[in-house]
Order: sequence, then C-alpha cells, then structure tokens
Amino acid sequence: MSDAQTRRIQVDLSGKVACVTGAGRGIGRAIAVTLGQAGASVACVDVNLEMAQETAATIRSFGKGQAEAFPCDVTDSNQVNATVESIVEKFGGLHILVNNAGITRDGLLLRMKDEQWDAVIAVNLRGTFLFTRAAARYLIRAGGARVINIASISGLMGNPGQANYSASKAGVIGFTRTVAKELASRQVTVNAIAPGFIATEMAHALGEQALEEIKKRTPLGRLGDPQDVADLALFLASDSAAFITGTVIRVDGGLAE
Ligand code: NDP
Repeated sequence: MSDAQTRRIQVDLSGKVACVTGAGRGIGRAIAVTLGQAGASVACVDVNLEMAQETAATIRSFGKGQAEAFPCDVTDSNQVNATVESIVEKFGGLHILVNNAGITRDGLLLRMKDEQWDAVIAVNLRGTFLFTRAAARYLIRAGGARVINIASISGLMGNPGQANYSASKAGVIGFTRTVAKELASRQVTVNAIAPGFIATEMAHALGEQALEEIKKRTPLGRLGDPQDVADLALFLASDSAAFITGTVIRVDGGLAE
C-alpha cells in the first residue's frame, strides 16, 4: 500500500448511493473504491464492463455497501438515460454522481483531425452533460446530493497539444459553475476537481521522459496518485462539504499557477 493509500479522512457514506463513470481503472477506480470503503453503494459505470466488474468486486469485498458494474458509453444519450434508470432501480436512489470518464487524443492544432476534436469533446464534455442531466431529478430528490466533475489543470491553464482536451475541461468547469447555481436551491452541490499529472495509463501515455520533466516542474516533486484525487472526492461527497459549491479545486502538487 502506498503512502497515499494509507492516509484517508474518515467519512461515513453508508446509506448513500454513488455513481462513478470511468470506474474501470485509474482515477475513477480509486474514487469508486474509496467511496465504497466509506460505506456507499457504488454503481461502477464504464464502457469496459470487465474492468468495471473488477472494481465492483473489490468494493463488495469490503462487506459494506453494495456495488454493481454498469456497461455504458457516456457519449450515448440513450445508454446514459437507461443506465441511470437501472442504477436507481437497483439501489433505490442516487446521492453522489462523479463524472470521471475522460479521454485524450493529443495533437498540435495544425495537425488536429476533426475526429480527435469530436471524440474528446464527446466523452469529456457531452458525457458529463448527459449523465448530470439524466441524474438531476434523482439527485434533487436525494436531499444534500453531490455532483463531482473531474476536470483538469489543462482546462485552467492550457497545455500545448491539448486544444481539444483543454477546451473540453474548460467546458466542464463552466458547466460545473452553471449547474451549481441551477441546483443550489435543491441543496445539490456541484464542484470540479482539477488534477495535475496523476500516475495512470492516461499520464503514462505521455512517455517516461515527459513525466520526468513534469515531476521536475511540479513543486511537490512527484506525480499525483489516483488516491490523491479520490481523497478530495471523498471529502466533497461528505457532509463536511455541504457549503462548498461551484468551485474548482486543484490537486496538482502546486503545478498550475
Ligand atoms: P484512464 O484512461 O486511466 O481511465 C479512464 C476510464 O474511463 C477508463 O476505464 C475508460 O475505459 C473509461 N472511459 C473512456 N471512455 C469512456 C466512455 N465513452 N464511456 C464510459 N467510460 C469511458 O484515465 P484517468 O484515470 O487518468 O482519468 C480519469 C479522469 O481524470 C479523466 O476525466 C481525465 O481527463 C482526468 N484527468 C486525468 C489526469 C491524469 O494525469 N491522469 C490529469 C487531469 C485530469 P477503457 O478502459 O475502455 O478505456
């Protein structure tokens, strides 16, 4: 167990139902497992069913809340609507939505293909919209519900080679701020987490040399661990975060200005 996995705030989410998209691996898996360890019942949503099933099995092994995998492509409106209905039918409600599914298709602007642009906007931005819209009426009924959107520091400060990704994540931040205002009167909080570079397959796709450079530029001198992000998600999901809405919180080791 890494250092990051051993330190954890104590939060009791028993009786709460959480839905995490992109829960099959990386940050989404860490968030789903962490919410499950805190006692939530967790719907593990991923386009890759097998990976989501593994996450759900891990959560069930804690013997706390329930967990089940739901195969779903977050870009597909019909699938998203049907998945949210299935989750509510299975668990009886929905209190916490974590929009985490995300992809990169990096390339410099002059060489960026339409498909690269469209794919990234579809998963990162449209997916967040579709899931939040489908979940909203259940979140409103839950009383004190949470939406946690995984953005990126790329959406705050830009990053060469990521015009599509930066635009999608800046879009997620604007979406977060607006929906926070729309749902505030129903006591639903909506916040974004902006991770820096976190050690997952997505970051490792950049290559080891680039990652060494990033570590040097990061004031805290390391890549983030998925657990660093999951711990903030756990706090935002907790009752302690009830008065926090419409914010973007960086988990980046001090990298962004
Ligand atoms: P990973 O690539 O490790 O995991 C992403 C997960 O999302 C995978 O399980 C993937 O499934 C799933 N997914 C992809 N497309 C879809 C889709 N259309 N519908 C449903 N699920 C889908 O990424 P990370 O864990 O690194 O990233 C998680 C989030 O954090 C993303 O939003 C990312 O942008 C953000 N982030 C990551 C950073 C990092 O450094 N890692 C930094 C800043 C933000 P499959 O296995 O089939 O691909």
